[in-house]
Amino acid sequence: MRLATNVPLASLTTLRLGGPLRELAILDDPADFPELVAIAGRSGRIPRVIGEGSNVLAADDGYPGLVVRMATTGVRLDRSADRERVLVTVQAGHELDALVSEMVAEGLSGIECLTGIPGTTGATPVQNVGAYGQEVTDTLASVRAWDWAAGREVEMPPAECGLGHRTSIFKYSQRWTILSVTLALTPGKLGPPLTYRAVAETAGVPIGEQVLMEDTVAAVRHVRARKGMILDPRDRDGRTAGSVFLSPVVSPGDAARLRAEGAPVNEFPDGATRVSASWLMSAAGFALGQQLAPGARISTRHFTLVADDGATAASFADATAIVAERVRKATGITLTAEPDLLGDVPAYMRLTGPSAQ
Ligand SMILES: Cc1cc2nc3c(=O)[nH]c(=O)nc-3n(C[C@H](O)[C@H](O)[C@H](O)COP(=O)(O)OP(=O)(O)OC[C@H]3O[C@@H](n4cnc5c(N)ncnc54)[C@H](O)[C@@H]3O)c2cc1C
Repeated sequence: MRLATNVPLASLTTLRLGGPLRELAILDDPADFPELVAIAGRSGRIPRVIGEGSNVLAADDGYPGLVVRMATTGVRLDRSADRERVLVTVQAGHELDALVSEMVAEGLSGIECLTGIPGTTGATPVQNVGAYGQEVTDTLASVRAWDWAAGREVEMPPAECGLGHRTSIFKYSQRWTILSVTLALTPGKLGPPLTYRAVAETAGVPIGEQVLMEDTVAAVRHVRARKGMILDPRDRDGRTAGSVFLSPVVSPGDAARLRAEGAPVNEFPDGATRVSASWLMSAAGFALGQQLAPGARISTRHFTLVADDGATAASFADATAIVAERVRKATGITLTAEPDLLGDVPAYMRLTGPSAQ
């Protein structure tokens, strides 16, 4: 484990925002976890956890406590469970995108549509990471976590994880540090039926058809890259946390009204009807590339927010609030911000988590 003090949070997040962090512990060996528990015990506070910081807004004032960066890597395959599935146990700090490539190379299907999503595998249950028709909940077999309230390691089946649309019991809670994730993947050559028009068109097949896993990955990456949704720090839209807003749930009345206006309104796996937040931003009159606050603007390729030189967490939060307010006025729909907050950014706090519901 590596320990450091006074680390700029901006160096730990993909938005490259955030002031000084008092204490950082980088955990690259799972065997060091008891040492971390001892350090946290001395401070008397549960540490915050981050992976690659790709879904975090960190405060300009920084964070006055201990943050653990999960950097443990490694994958173990267990083919003994049955012939239809292979149990894949992944250390929390292992990159999700690397895992997808490794599993496709192994001929194991179930997560190929998650290609190109930045971040660690340990963070995937936190908001039930998903894209283009697959979510972690589809393949999650169990989560091994340290339960800070109980002071012991726990093995949690999916039913205990409260997984929903971009949420779980881990979101907005510091109680658990996820140590490893076990997925049940299926041996095979094909990816899932392609349910997203853009992905199916890129793969050159009708909606609902399956293609080789490698071709699924290529099509999804192509669609993501077009929207600037593959992290590239050199890109002009590269200071990003991905989608800044969740797709909001809409009532049957709003769904009918928005559909008539041409909005993509879809039924989601959690049973809710949701509208695209990006469409709402465009319908509210925002333009690609539009500046909203110092250093904070809409991406040039997709309706989400990105940072430039001069951005602060406060200005990014202001931009987020401007979008939410204008969307509410123009469409009547309330947006909730997706990235988690690290530290205090009052303007953002109102837009995220339970306080925004
Ligand atoms: C360009 C881009 C595209 C994206 N596309 C998608 C997408 O298509 N679908 C999607 O769902 N998300 C997407 N995201 C969001 C992000 O990639 C995911 O949320 C990812 O899982 C975050 O992983 P991370 O390691 O960076 O977590 P962080 O951002 O470091 O942390 C996110 C949250 O998880 C908690 N956390 C992290 N690791 C652990 C752990 N081991 N134990 C307990 N809590 C933990 C943190 O405390 C924090 O609250 C995108 C982000 C970007 C920048």
